[in-house]
Amino acid sequence: MVDAHQTFVIVGGGLAGAKAAETLRAEGFTGRVILICDERDHPYERPPLSKGYLAGTDERDSVFVHEPAWYARSDIELHLGQPVVQLDREAKCVRLGDGTVVHYDTLLLATGAEPRRLDVPGTGLVGVHHLRRLAHADRLRGRLTALGQENGHLVIAGAGWIGLEVAAAARTFGAEVTVVEPQPAPLHAVLGPEMGAVFTDLHREHGVRFHFGATLTEIVGRDGLVQHVRTDDGDEHPAHDVLAAIGAAPRTSLAEAAGLELAPAGSGGTGGVLTDGSLRTSDPDIYAAGDVAAVRHPLLDGAALRVEHWANALHGGTGAARAMLGRDAGFDRVPYFFSDQYDVGLEFSGYAPPGSYDRVVCRGDVAKREFVAFWLQDGRVLAGLNVNVWDVAGPVQQLIRSRAAVEESALADPQVPLAELVPEGAR
Ligand SMILES: Cc1cc2nc3c(=O)[nH]c(=O)nc-3n(C[C@H](O)[C@H](O)[C@H](O)COP(=O)(O)OP(=O)(O)OC[C@H]3O[C@@H](n4cnc5c(N)ncnc54)[C@H](O)[C@@H]3O)c2cc1C
Repeated sequence: MVDAHQTFVIVGGGLAGAKAAETLRAEGFTGRVILICDERDHPYERPPLSKGYLAGTDERDSVFVHEPAWYARSDIELHLGQPVVQLDREAKCVRLGDGTVVHYDTLLLATGAEPRRLDVPGTGLVGVHHLRRLAHADRLRGRLTALGQENGHLVIAGAGWIGLEVAAAARTFGAEVTVVEPQPAPLHAVLGPEMGAVFTDLHREHGVRFHFGATLTEIVGRDGLVQHVRTDDGDEHPAHDVLAAIGAAPRTSLAEAAGLELAPAGSGGTGGVLTDGSLRTSDPDIYAAGDVAAVRHPLLDGAALRVEHWANALHGGTGAARAMLGRDAGFDRVPYFFSDQYDVGLEFSGYAPPGSYDRVVCRGDVAKREFVAFWLQDGRVLAGLNVNVWDVAGPVQQLIRSRAAVEESALADPQVPLAELVPEGAR
């Protein structure tokens, strides 16, 4: 039983941190809740930063998790614009950038991730961008507007979700767009080659150029401004601006310095602060959630999985808060992601990196981009992608969770409702 005089400290004010604070109060916790974040803005959601907010169709006010007045109303103590620079597990306190020391009884690490930097000459030039924060999106939108007006060129390094969404936004501004990607197709590490081709066609139809199988090696500038980029195969592409969209790294430095157990990074490992299925770290008084957490996942027989998706931050923040209160919080959600590009909306559920599946089966019309794709291994569904087909993510996730073998012909047949393929006990 948690007593009412306890202090819960949340480090990181993204979606996971804000949802944890909300849940602590919703579950009736009356002790102190302190949320500390190095950003000055109140906690906000990041998906609009590469979609509606970047395109200028979503208002700034719409991205915040709660309205600012909610924090005072809910008695959440906020320290914004304040990095936590040290975690002292023995003294059970954190030290902020201005020297303030904050005691905790239970701590949540929700420090998220940060964009990976290009390690090439020229990254210091004006016109080289990353996209993680509101200020990044504001700056990038200004540049996309100018590029559209001047027929200017944006080069995007990386054909992952963020690279593709920004490519779509940039085309709507009228900018020329080239995407440089070392893999043979976009989203290769998530979807594999079969479905990558769908996104290559989509973006080519909208005028995006791809340079696959190449790595950006230099950003060449003059007078501090970007002029063009070079790739490792000797090609050059004109560029006025460059977006590095080459993934994100979990912000683990506090945890690492404090001696918490981390998941291995590199050679297939994704890094992150290692937690059990209740989001508890190797220190029983410290939890982790959202992009920074590598959770021993029941779907992967306990192997650590770090998921950098909105739904994971939403449910992870809630789950961690419940676990901090001593309530049941088994975290076994199927990883889920959504994206919007031009007139294509999609949801991806599950986990099926290349090498983990033996077949991809589709139902619907792939050429029209109205279909559901399933990644199978030995007849079991590992992942599903629904493109411009709605209200199917529920049964797709049930199929994944059931681990049952499914008839391929039934999976491929749009006349067979997906829910009928889910074994009784898994619905
Ligand atoms: C441009 C963009 C588009 C995206 N689009 C989608 C999408 O379409 N669909 C989807 O599913 N997901 C999407 N995502 C991913 C999703 O936004 C993330 O998974 C989610 O933001 C993770 O939330 P979080 O709370 O774990 O971390 P974050 O949102 O990164 O928040 C962590 C916060 O902690 C702060 N912090 C870190 N270290 C410290 C410290 N030492 N002291 C104080 N504060 C600290 C950080 O500055 C940050 O404010 C997108 C992400 C980006 C960047």
